[in-house]
Amino acid sequence: MGNINHVCFRNFDLDQPWTFEAYENMGGYKAWRKILRGELTREFVLEEMKASELRGRGGAGFPTGLKWSFLNPNAPGQKYVVCNSDEGEPGTCKDRDILRYNPHQVIEGMAIAGFVMGATVGYNYIRGEFYEPIERFEIALQEAKAAGLIGLELKDTKVAFDLHTHIGAGAYICGEETALLESLEGKKGYPRFKPPFPANFGLYGQPTTVNNTESFASVPIILEKGSKWFSEQGIPNNGGTKIFCVSGHVNKPGNYEVPLGMPFSELLELAGGVRDGNKLKAVIPGGSSAPILTADVMMKIDMDFDSLAKAGSMLGSGAVIVMDETTCMVKVLSRLAHFYDEESCGQCTPCREGTGWVSRIVHRILHGDGKPDDLDLLDNVAANMIGRTICVLADALAMPVQSFIRCFREEFEYFIEHGKSMVEGN
Ligand code: SF4
Repeated sequence: MGNINHVCFRNFDLDQPWTFEAYENMGGYKAWRKILRGELTREFVLEEMKASELRGRGGAGFPTGLKWSFLNPNAPGQKYVVCNSDEGEPGTCKDRDILRYNPHQVIEGMAIAGFVMGATVGYNYIRGEFYEPIERFEIALQEAKAAGLIGLELKDTKVAFDLHTHIGAGAYICGEETALLESLEGKKGYPRFKPPFPANFGLYGQPTTVNNTESFASVPIILEKGSKWFSEQGIPNNGGTKIFCVSGHVNKPGNYEVPLGMPFSELLELAGGVRDGNKLKAVIPGGSSAPILTADVMMKIDMDFDSLAKAGSMLGSGAVIVMDETTCMVKVLSRLAHFYDEESCGQCTPCREGTGWVSRIVHRILHGDGKPDDLDLLDNVAANMIGRTICVLADALAMPVQSFIRCFREEFEYFIEHGKSMVEGN
């Protein structure tokens, strides 16, 4: 596997890496200081971002540089940069560690983004349960302000960027960017109809860019080491490293920052392999809303946006949920369906009703009351949820439902016929 260069976790071997001093000693705020001195232009930074091939780390994988180019820095009026640290996707646990151990890199990344897009105010929307990460981020922000690096009136420069921490209230849907903006405005976290997109009508109706914590934390190093260095950490069209949150039936669950494009088999090895010497059965490769893939497919796949999309799933937030041969797929789907049923905001009928239908059907199969046509019914309900709603929460359940039935139909049929799992011990 050789040596792996880290981006977001590059300071993890330092003593108290979250402090301002530790970040500066590592070369932190170098790029931002250059910007404050007027040594870098917006155009240069934007071109570097595009060349780095950094793709959004929150789930969609949209090219970050291209997203930034949608905001006109010279348009009149207030513009905003917002960091999505809501991190609610089941299986995902990376952003909290970035905030906990490397908060200054997020602050610097947001400041650079603000400069490129002409946004002088930013917010970091952090999940309310992240007590320590919130505290660390807030202390880091105060340190950066005290050092004269963040604020609306900075000395000897025309550049300004002020930043605030916002604490979320724990709704999964607030990880969806427009629901997050509504919540930030003090309203219920209801996703908005799109278009208009946030680049035109975002926070308080002003042009806004929302990026994930890991995306922002990747920005300073792109300017420090150059876009070429960054893109070469990954593979073409998938620049940089990615933090994979490996959970489930592995010997060493945890966050692993590795080059994009690493074969799944190597990532599994890093995580200590499957527990108890068991056989791998399936993997959800990108958070609970990503379609499940079987062991055969996973053992041949590379962990990057394009390879996973080609295989019919997605890299998503990088949450890799590993399941061994002892796993009952009916149980897993029942748990997932219940989660999405609970978290649907209820605005759209196909989502509000569909998630409930799916949850109830899978629940009755699990409790021995399945009917012979339940799988066709599930498939039909799922098909009628996809692409018919305001946001993608409905798809986030419907696509896994279809993939579970496609990959493990026999297991569901056995449960319906016999009223129990075909997997021993379940
Ligand atoms: Fe709400 Fe679901 Fe519609 Fe999204 S898809 S807006 S969560 S009802």
